[in-house]
Amino acid sequence: MSYKLFIPGPIAVSAKTMQAMTAAPIGHRSPDFVALYQSIQPRLQELFGTTDPVFLSTSSAWGIMEGALRNVCRKRVLNCMNGAFSDKWNDVANRNGLPATPLPFEWGQPVDPLAVRAELASGAYDAITLIHNETSCGCMSDLPALMAVIREFPDVISIVDTVSSFSALDIPKDELGIDIMITGSQKALALPPGLSLCAVSVRALQRAETQPNRGYYFDLIEFLKNHEKGMTPSTPNIPLIYALRSKLEDIFAEGRETRFERHARLNTKVRTTLREQGFELFPAEEFGSLSLNCFANTRHLDIGALNRRLKAEHALVIDGGYGKIKGKTFRISNMGDETDESIQIMLDAVVATMATTPTLEGE
Ligand SMILES: *Cc1c(COP(=O)(O)O)cnc(C)c1O
Repeated sequence: MSYKLFIPGPIAVSAKTMQAMTAAPIGHRSPDFVALYQSIQPRLQELFGTTDPVFLSTSSAWGIMEGALRNVCRKRVLNCMNGAFSDKWNDVANRNGLPATPLPFEWGQPVDPLAVRAELASGAYDAITLIHNETSCGCMSDLPALMAVIREFPDVISIVDTVSSFSALDIPKDELGIDIMITGSQKALALPPGLSLCAVSVRALQRAETQPNRGYYFDLIEFLKNHEKGMTPSTPNIPLIYALRSKLEDIFAEGRETRFERHARLNTKVRTTLREQGFELFPAEEFGSLSLNCFANTRHLDIGALNRRLKAEHALVIDGGYGKIKGKTFRISNMGDETDESIQIMLDAVVATMATTPTLEGE
């Protein structure tokens, strides 16, 4: 049975994108691959807002998120934490034996630029990790304000996860001074999972060059050397690169600004409708994500039961909450190819089904 995903990743993939993946395989050292790779660079750079190279990694985002740390952190990394993914990044740093300091905030609260400044001012750090859009709790931190603070510390290499916000709103990498900006295929880019993308600054590459033990698979210098030849270090997921080329056509046909406005409009539509149903936004109001909404389950509905019926009766699913806020929250994505019409269909189904969804026992 097929059904449509309104979870915040992976998300629904268009028929055009699926079709693009069926192109016959080509050798990854062939001129055909070089042409494919080089043809998508200009648009990727435009989307990232950068003149830096955009590397393609055959891995999920975590591959590059872990690899980036190993490439640039020597002294100590500051891990800004306000949800499941950013919490995990601190764990990942520890597992790699890197000196790491957590900077925790409540889930759903944004990362505070002043707290970042106070910590970086100690001079203890040479790297920082930051998640722009904490997908687990739908909280989007103020990236321009945070980057303004981080730019005050030129020794600190910034590693910024834009996994669930990239291409949903403008994130001008070079203007903001982001060193390593990372995204994944299965979130707002609306591709199947299995590819991650990252744009890397000259500064970060210079740091990597002198870094021992940066491994092989995610060695940014390997990526750079191959990039210069229009290739990737090892055999990439070529069908996903065809899919990416197809998606870039879609994005630029729609226009970046129109795409950003569409995401904002659909996000508001979902937020307004669920508010009318008596739910509150989980994150701090001004920091609600633009690519998904995370709601507090203020009506204590049995979200598992709701979702089972949405799937069986309407062939769609939303998300029942992540990690420690599973069941206490639910999330609805508006990333990717959604339209006013497709969001309305989903909302009509959700509202109608909620009317007869039981509440949780004892609540
Ligand atoms: C989904 C997500 C990740 C993890 O991505 P994978 O592709 O599963 O490795 C990391 N960060 C954020 C903000 C995400 O939304």
